[in-house]
Order: sequence, then structure tokens, then C-alpha cells
Amino acid sequence: TFIDLEADARVRADDRGHVFHSWSAQALIDPLPVAGGEGASFWDYRGNTYLDFSSQLVNLNLGHQHPDLVRAIQEQAGRLATIQPSMANDVRGQLAREIAAVAPDGMEKVFFTNGGADANENAVRMARIVTGKRKVLSMYRSYHGNTSTAITLTGDPRRWANEPADGSVAHFFGPYPYRSPFHAASPEQETARALEHLEQTIILEGASTIGAIILETVVGTNGVLVPPPGYLPGVRALCDKYGILYIADEVMVGFGRIGEWFAFQAFDVVPDLVTFAKGVNSGYVPLGGVLISDAVASHFDTVSFPGGLTYSGHPLACAAGVATFEVFRRDGILERVRDLGDRIVAPRLAAMAQRHPSVGDVRGRGLFWAIELVKDAETREPLVPFNAAGADAAPMTAVAAACKKAGLWPFTHFNRVHVAPPLVISEDDLIRGLDIIDRALDVADEAIA
Ligand code: PLP
Repeated sequence: TFIDLEADARVRADDRGHVFHSWSAQALIDPLPVAGGEGASFWDYRGNTYLDFSSQLVNLNLGHQHPDLVRAIQEQAGRLATIQPSMANDVRGQLAREIAAVAPDGMEKVFFTNGGADANENAVRMARIVTGKRKVLSMYRSYHGNTSTAITLTGDPRRWANEPADGSVAHFFGPYPYRSPFHAASPEQETARALEHLEQTIILEGASTIGAIILETVVGTNGVLVPPPGYLPGVRALCDKYGILYIADEVMVGFGRIGEWFAFQAFDVVPDLVTFAKGVNSGYVPLGGVLISDAVASHFDTVSFPGGLTYSGHPLACAAGVATFEVFRRDGILERVRDLGDRIVAPRLAAMAQRHPSVGDVRGRGLFWAIELVKDAETREPLVPFNAAGADAAPMTAVAAACKKAGLWPFTHFNRVHVAPPLVISEDDLIRGLDIIDRALDVADEAIA
């Protein structure tokens, strides 16, 4: 065990004194000083090691300090640390080619960004220019990033404090079988009614005003909502019918999270624009991008694209991306994720749902799952209210604390615990982590007893 209390105090003091943190009331937080990490674990300066069941912000797909990624960045830094985006660069081109190679036919070009929000920002910009229509539809219960248009697209409380931002965004309800906004009794009915609702939204907002619909292929932070069969193909058909471009936000679910290069490949659909970030290089160096259909890309063959970033396709980030492809192929990461999801996570979560009265629903795919906690299995009243904070969130805070005490860093959001470990987690650690969550759920059971 690693202990360095002096370093702990110094890191804490510098952080508290000078680092202004995301999404936080600065005086009410206590960020954990982290000393190091390896694979699926990281540790602090006080002798505590945590299994990372959140993959940091669901970006650390290949785990901490993967030797191939570290080496690729070191080698690239020794060769050419940076070059501006209007020049051609070997690793930038190689990564774009690799991405296009695993994408459907007819998607050959990639515009690189610094992360997910600016990927969505630029995908929307492309859709608006190509269609000549400004409005964008997005889902309630979604997150698309924190730049101006991306936060407006977002369908969760993080948007509220930023309004109004981009006036030409409208929201609609997506499928959510466990809490069906359409009072559907089956997944088939959920699909049919969700598509009917979307078509009505398009008609009432005016198809002639709508340039794009943006969707997370599997809704991430807002609930691991896996689309029921037929929903995404139905969205595609509505887009085609009304001359709207389909943007798939794959920032959280792309690059292996559900056992596919791109999650939409599991749902029988091809979007016009695909945004990605996080898993493309596990966030070792910031990177995101837009994968562009030939039809959209060709619009800009002779018309200038009005967008750019100093660090678009940064060589250090792209080198880590190229290494990611090598590791995924060599180590069979996609197959591994599907196998672990089906063989280990699915049955164990199903058993937890049986055993714990507080578990209302479990759902997911690959290494991306949600455990939804309720006060009452019949009424499905959430364990804590939507957007709960402070004392209202106490039962969830207690579940998270029980996980941390037992050595697991959980991802919790509102009334859910998500299961999103690095894709390289060992089978033993995966089982150990699920067992920790299982025991922590006793705390939720006690809260409703
Ligand atoms: N889209 C989705 C689905 C996300 O989960 C996120 C981040 O969590 C983003 C976009 C924004 O990405 P970034 O934080 O890299 O800007």
C-alpha cells in the first residue's frame, strides 16, 4: 500500500486553493487526491485503492497507464509533439483511415476536435449548412456536452442554468420502457409510440425548419437507455422522409463500451454524422471528432467548411488513438466486452434485482449497465427524486459511500448506479466489483425498509 500524507496534504491544498472545478459549488466539494493508477484501479495517498467502476468519466476504456498507449504517446512526443491542423500528419491520417475502416461504407472522412462537446457542435454546424435548416431536435434525458449548442441540446438539468443558449433546439421524449412516457406495455409498443411522438414533434416544429436530430445511440449518463428494437431504424426513416440529418452521439458508447466499434452497429442503422471522443484513445490526450457521410462531406468539396480548432487532430492524441486500434484488435476487446457482459454482468445484475427490494430495473449491454433504485417496486417511485442533491440525495450518497469504503469507485446519477468499468478489467476484478455493489445495495434496502 502506498501512503504519503505530506503529498496528500500538498495536493489537497493546491487543489483547494487554486483549482476551480466543473459543475460544482467550489466550497462544498472535497476532491480526492489521486496518486496513481493501473488497469482498472487507482489509488490515493492514504493507502486506499479503488476499482474504477466508472472508468473515470466513462472514457478510460483501456484502463489506467496502458503500456501501449503510454509508449505511443512517448514515441510521438519524441518524433513530433505537435503540428497545426492545416498540415498533413502521419498519425492523424492513419487514425482517420482506421476510423473510416470500421465505419459503414460511405463514411470516409473525419473532422477531429478536442472532445465530445465540440464534436457535437461541429456536427450540428455541418448539418445546418448542408440542409440549410437551423433547428435541431434532441431528447429529454440526454447529455451532449457543455458548449453553447451542445448544452442546449442536452436534455438534463445541466442545461437549465445555461439557458437560453441556442434558441433553435427543441426536445422530445425517447423510449424508456421502465418509465414509459407513452404508457406502453411492451418494447414493441414503446417503439411504435415513441416514433409516433417523434413524427408529431417533427410535424409540429415544422420539417422545413429542422436540419438534424441528434441522439445518443444508448443514452449514457441519463440512464443507460438501450433503444428498443426498431426505434433507431424508425428514426432513420423519419429523417429520410422529412429531409433531416441523423447525428449519432457516440461519445460515451463508441469504441467498445457495448462491444461494438460504434454502438449504432448493433441497432441496424446508419447515421449521417457520428460524433465520438472518450474511448477513441481513452482520454490519454484530449480527442474527439465527427465521422462524416460522403454525402455531407462532399458538400464541402468546393465550399469552405467554416470551423476549425488549433488542436484538431493533435499528434499526441492521434498516436494514442492509433495504438487504441492496435490494442482492440490484438486483444479482441470487442469480443471480450460482449462476452463479459453476457456471461458475467447480465446474470449477476439479474440476481441482484431478485435479491434487493430496492432494485427496480437493471438494463444494459456489454460493459455498460444501470441499476435503477426505487422506494417501491410496484409504484416504481425513484429512491431519490429527479435531480436530487444534498439531503434529498442521502440514500444514494450512502450507497456510493458503502462502495467506496469497500474499495470501489462507483458511477452514480440520480437514483441509479451504473456499471462501466474499463474494458480491460480482469474477470476476477469484475466479479469482485459486482459483489461490492451487491453488498452496498443492502444500504438502499435498509433505507426503504
Ligand atoms: N456526449 C455524450 C453522450 C457524453 O457522455 C459527453 C460527456 O460525458 C459529451 C457528449 C461531452 O463530451 P466532452 O466532455 O468531451 O465535451
